[in-house]
Amino acid sequence: MEDREIIVQNLQQIHHRINLACQKSGRDPKSVRLLMATKTVEPERIKIALDLGENLIGENKVQEYKEKWNEMKDFSCEKHFIGHLQTNKIKEIIRYVTCIESVDRLELAEKLQAKLSAENMEMDVYVEVNTSCEESKSGVSPDKTMELLQSLQAFPLLHPKGLMTIGMASEEEEKVRGCFRTLSALRQEAIALKLLPSESELSMGMSHDLEWAVEEGATIVRVGSAIFGNRFYPGK
Ligand SMILES: *Cc1c(COP(=O)(O)O)cnc(C)c1O
Repeated sequence: MEDREIIVQNLQQIHHRINLACQKSGRDPKSVRLLMATKTVEPERIKIALDLGENLIGENKVQEYKEKWNEMKDFSCEKHFIGHLQTNKIKEIIRYVTCIESVDRLELAEKLQAKLSAENMEMDVYVEVNTSCEESKSGVSPDKTMELLQSLQAFPLLHPKGLMTIGMASEEEEKVRGCFRTLSALRQEAIALKLLPSESELSMGMSHDLEWAVEEGATIVRVGSAIFGNRFYPGK
């Protein structure tokens, strides 16, 4: 099958899955956006999906984004950063995106504020939470999330708009749902404390667990391999 046909079919299937999960949980399908996780995906293939009506992408690696940027800069979609961000890459990434979903520590927020100020820019940010509390994962721990959101108040060029998590990599539904519930509860708490706007986003759910995330309240699901196929990492 042609690459394009595969992407067409995969996207239909993803939207179908989102719609079913919305039906099951009594949600409006329009309240869930699909973010295409485009790491390792060539710009030509991203473009195919955008031409089919998608409008939101997320990249993980600053270096990779930089290499693809010339071909991607005219894509009229919304562009987020969803990977672990090192402070020495801030200056580059702020040119490429309108939202950084992976703010997970005070030092990063401070340096982000400083660079944005120097460049006369502003940025939407989500706080990434390590809801599975696995040591290998980045993200602030759930019990430190309000504190981090509170400290973001001191940085006027950062606009906190939501929370993001990568749930537990597990087949056990209750464990995975538990992570998503944690994020949803933190959002409620943050809204009540006026640390997030009432319309704030919950970015959670990936190829294998997006139904559970939607049923637990995701407003953005981040899907890569179920759209573009398995990722190929050169040298691995
Ligand atoms: C790769 C990635 C995704 C998508 O993962 P798939 O399993 O390919 O759908 C979502 N979120 C983040 C942060 C990612 O790095």
